Amino acid sequence: MENTHNLLKQLPSIDSLIARIHADQPEYIDNAPQCLVTEAAQQAVAQLREKILRKPDVKIRIDSLVDEILQLLAKKIQPSLRQVINATGTLLHTNLGRAPLSIKAINSINEVAGSYSNLELNLSTGKRGHRYSHVDKLLCRLTGAEAAAVVNNNAAAVLLALTALAKGKEAIVSRGELVEIGGSFRVPDVMEAGGVILREVGTTNKTHLRDYVGAINAATGLLLKVHTSNYRIVGFEQSVTAAQLVQLGQQHKIPVMEDLGSGMLFDLSAFGLPHEPTVQQGVKAGIDILTFSGDKLLGGPQAGIIVGKKWAVDIIRHHPLARAMRIDKLTLAALEATLRHYLNQQEALREIPLLRMLNADAHQLQQRSTELAQELTQRLADTATITVIAEPSCVGGGSLPTTELPGYAVALKLHNISVQNCADNLRSAAVPVIARIQDDQLIVNLRTVFPHQQATLIDTLAAICRGQK
Ligand SMILES: *Cc1c(COP(=O)(O)O)cnc(C)c1O
Repeated sequence: MENTHNLLKQLPSIDSLIARIHADQPEYIDNAPQCLVTEAAQQAVAQLREKILRKPDVKIRIDSLVDEILQLLAKKIQPSLRQVINATGTLLHTNLGRAPLSIKAINSINEVAGSYSNLELNLSTGKRGHRYSHVDKLLCRLTGAEAAAVVNNNAAAVLLALTALAKGKEAIVSRGELVEIGGSFRVPDVMEAGGVILREVGTTNKTHLRDYVGAINAATGLLLKVHTSNYRIVGFEQSVTAAQLVQLGQQHKIPVMEDLGSGMLFDLSAFGLPHEPTVQQGVKAGIDILTFSGDKLLGGPQAGIIVGKKWAVDIIRHHPLARAMRIDKLTLAALEATLRHYLNQQEALREIPLLRMLNADAHQLQQRSTELAQELTQRLADTATITVIAEPSCVGGGSLPTTELPGYAVALKLHNISVQNCADNLRSAAVPVIARIQDDQLIVNLRTVFPHQQATLIDTLAAICRGQK
């Protein structure tokens, strides 16, 4: 008790600690905000005080206290939103920011970010322009649609389109398409928020055209189709095609809308993947309004893209909510650059990281994995057993749920550290590494690791997997 009391009295003051760092290691704190320096010192001293209260035989060492302060400070100075290395092999992770952007998209953001731009200025007339003008013609050219608009994300696009086209009326939807996707986006809830009355038809696994026909009445405002992007009904199932819905809509003068979710501009069967409905097909079928995400399979920035008939897009553009959901200039810059890649399919495949990773050759992945395994075996010596395993990737992000992309990964069996501990430490590295755990092994899948990140990945794995921090 006596000892504890003495120790607590010996704890240095915050001011004296900061003064000492100023004198000995000014480079660490001179450019740091004073409030963060003080906070780090207070935390370090508070931690030591707790330690003393728990274990009265602790030694107070000023050096260690200073080290602790500098470590805490380093964490506080670091930006919160940072680059991580995605070693999961899953291409679209909403938690990891979905699609990485192409170099051109990044450069476009750079160009616009630090300067003024012609965001809403028509440079040829000098009059007010519209922000949609930077992408709408491009979207029409790529999809064949009459008109286009873009908002903040696809959830916003769906809500805006629903409310603009069918507020106070009924929208007919198949029970098999009442989707929930991550982050609490549920079709019935979005409809309710948009003031649209949900009219469910059919059953979970089968919906027929006659079900829609039977539900049409004077209050019907919309026929809605939702792409079941994140799950599949297989077996005894039936749904109504877009073309059938369009025909029915035309007969009754009711607009048809489809939420495509991911929305692809290519036929994915070119990658050996199952055929996903393309945006062009929906447009061609005559759907009035189609919505899809910018940052899923399209491989661009977060955005909600709306394409379709001019009359319907006009109503959506002029709806008061459109202003509340409008896309910002940085996103717009990245979206335009991404869409421009699609003017040439080969360029899109080469330049858009998501498409490149989707299309990655299994043999090349095996080779890269083997090289990584060899390098790590050298660096980690007898602290880990390292093998190359066949491991398929999934697309993720609610896209292509039943599809597996054949590939390879490096599996590390660790001798000195629990695999969970290792995965935790990897996440707190200077450049955090996100890896999976499977069968008590750490799995590193290079499909989603950029070549320029590989050296950092190896150094981080080599430092952490041996069991030292
Ligand atoms: C992903 C998805 C959405 C939401 O898109 P965000 O861009 O994430 O807002 C809506 N509907 C479907 C079918 C989806 O797959």
